[in-house]
Amino acid sequence: MKHNWLGLLLRSLLPLIGCCLLLGLITGAYGWSLAAGLGAYLIWHLSQLLRLHRWLKEYQPDVPPPDGHGLWGDVFDSIYQVQRRDQRVRGRLQAVIDRVQESTAALRDAVIMLDQDGNLEWWNRAAETLIGLKTPQDSGQPISNLIRHPRFKEYFEKGNFQEPLDIPSPINDRLHLQFYVTRYGNNEQLVLVRNVTRIHQLEQMRKDFVANVSHELRTPLTVIAGYLETLLDNVEEVNPRWRRALQQMQQQASRMQNLLNDLLLLAKLETSDDPAETQPVAVDQLLQSIKSDAQALSGERNHRILLEADPRFRLRGSESELRSAFSNLIFNAVKYTPAEGEIRIRWWADGKGGHLSVQDTGIGIEAKHLPRLTERFYRVDSSRASNTGGTGLGLAIVKHVLIHHHARLDISSEPGKGSTFTCHFPVEQVVGR
Ligand code: ADP
Repeated sequence: MKHNWLGLLLRSLLPLIGCCLLLGLITGAYGWSLAAGLGAYLIWHLSQLLRLHRWLKEYQPDVPPPDGHGLWGDVFDSIYQVQRRDQRVRGRLQAVIDRVQESTAALRDAVIMLDQDGNLEWWNRAAETLIGLKTPQDSGQPISNLIRHPRFKEYFEKGNFQEPLDIPSPINDRLHLQFYVTRYGNNEQLVLVRNVTRIHQLEQMRKDFVANVSHELRTPLTVIAGYLETLLDNVEEVNPRWRRALQQMQQQASRMQNLLNDLLLLAKLETSDDPAETQPVAVDQLLQSIKSDAQALSGERNHRILLEADPRFRLRGSESELRSAFSNLIFNAVKYTPAEGEIRIRWWADGKGGHLSVQDTGIGIEAKHLPRLTERFYRVDSSRASNTGGTGLGLAIVKHVLIHHHARLDISSEPGKGSTFTCHFPVEQVVGR
């Protein structure tokens, strides 16, 4: 609407001034008449202003504005129009918010919104059933006060949310939850919690199955291997033609025993997130003894095995687990390096932590295999593995032992030139002498 405000003003003022002049002509007091006229005009405006003020103060969405005259009528109408428009926009926004809230509330996954300080701002119904959040008591509380699992505390304080976190529910041990945290807006956090109990149970069943089968197979295999050994000892008396067959059977039985031992070790490593013990381990002595075994494994292939280990630094952890991991790396270097090759083992520590590297001049690994190397039974070349008698579980064991010790594995390799496997341990795991 376009208004001719000046016209409106003149149209109301001119008759008033005319009346005042007429009154002045009759009474002869022009000044007083004009003053009285303008005074009345002012009072009328004030009264309109007061009506507007009262209406705005007692504003109710459905009550139309009071009837105004002239300019004031227009002002009342314009304000009313603006208010109606705002109301419609707000209504539409509210409808969108309601739909979003309804759909999030109906989600089976819990959704929690946290402010910058990690305090609870909003959550859906699933958060109440999965985590036990209570409305409204818990609003504004720090999330770490309500989920007190030490791993959650550590995960949340570290602030590295690339990987999700799996922990049992704080209200029911049998519920397994997976937490995903995403930062958004002004460093606020969105926590998505999924119920992964079924996956967890299946995973547990898989682990139990593998552990039980390995355990059950061990006894019959020991009996078979025992008799094979006796038969081989007396092969000349029984039938010398069986010698080769028996030797092969013994070799394969020993391979199966190694496989079962590795599977059992892996199953044991998987049952916990922490090392079996946390004694300071003298890495230099441990490596020295593994080096002797590696030299024996090398045998006639005569590898040059060099060891540089700083005796000043020890490693907090489980000696038996570390021995398994380090010997797997070192024996792999022997297995995959041709005769007369060089293997260099180093243990050192610096400001970043402790490091163990095993470098060989062996056959190397193509880059495309590197990301999958620590998967169980993953082999670069299956024919290669059967020659070396490997189980395909060595690097999976290394990975699990390193997880227990909060360490990570770096692999760099060039086909035909050699490989370097480096374990990086955090500063907290290193103990000086
Ligand atoms: P395996 O028992 O077959 O050695 P691992 O899990 O120890 O199983 O290793 C997985 C695969 O990684 C091996 O089959 C091998 O192809 C490759 N690999 C491991 N270490 C080396 C190495 N030092 N040089 C070359 N290839 C290696």
